[in-house]
Amino acid sequence: MIRLFVPNDLSAGAGVVPTVDQSRYLTSVMRLGVGAEVALFNGRDGEWRAAIIESTKRGCLLKAEEQTRPMETGPDLDLIIAMVKRGRVETIVEKAAELGARRVRLTVTRRTNVDFVKLGRLDAIAMEAAEQTGRLDVPEVADPVKLDKILDDWDSARRLVFCDEGGDAKPAIEALAGTGAPAAILIGPEGGFAPEERERLRGLSFVTPVSLGPRILRADTAAISAMTLWQAAAGDWR
Ligand code: SAM
Repeated sequence: MIRLFVPNDLSAGAGVVPTVDQSRYLTSVMRLGVGAEVALFNGRDGEWRAAIIESTKRGCLLKAEEQTRPMETGPDLDLIIAMVKRGRVETIVEKAAELGARRVRLTVTRRTNVDFVKLGRLDAIAMEAAEQTGRLDVPEVADPVKLDKILDDWDSARRLVFCDEGGDAKPAIEALAGTGAPAAILIGPEGGFAPEERERLRGLSFVTPVSLGPRILRADTAAISAMTLWQAAAGDWR
């Protein structure tokens, strides 16, 4: 069944006017008509079965009928990713949605060589991936913030898994055993972390440095690998 994210509150009988793009997708691309059913979710009320009750050239109207899945979210996992090239960031956001990250936080580090992202595009990618992957929420993509500020404002109840390509960190699967949520995974830029950044991170009590093996991974590969390992060792894949 087609799943659509909508911002509306969902309850029995609630009317929902989908966006123009969503209406076009339902009626023109998927050729659905009045009476056809779709699944709606909004990140708060679980998943609801809804029916198309009106369909005109200007768009269609949906009516929520019955909750089919209660609200639940995956483990409280953030992905903090240094800004890398647009294509790679888009891949990382899509995979973060599929791999259950609650939030994707962009960060600027000393060696970050990209300083602009189209947040609207990343939000759309996160939403489409959430619809496809069956989750009931859409990961938030937060504006870029300097790494030093993120660390200055850190809530020490959240474990920070520092993917350190320096080579002397513990293997991730060992280092993650026995840890859990809330957590965050930190991935550096194409040029890696500066020595002073590594030194600061290594000195923080809430940081767990991890190795992702003997080869240097590109930031998107590292992000996907680290999220996979975390979900398997400490998340909802157990
Ligand atoms: N400094 C690397 C180099 O010498 O080419 C480039 C950094 S790598 C492209 C981007 C980020 O992915 C790193 O900062 C780190 O967070 C993560 N990463 C890549 N390979 C890793 C590994 N083998 N172990 C841990 N983290 C890794």
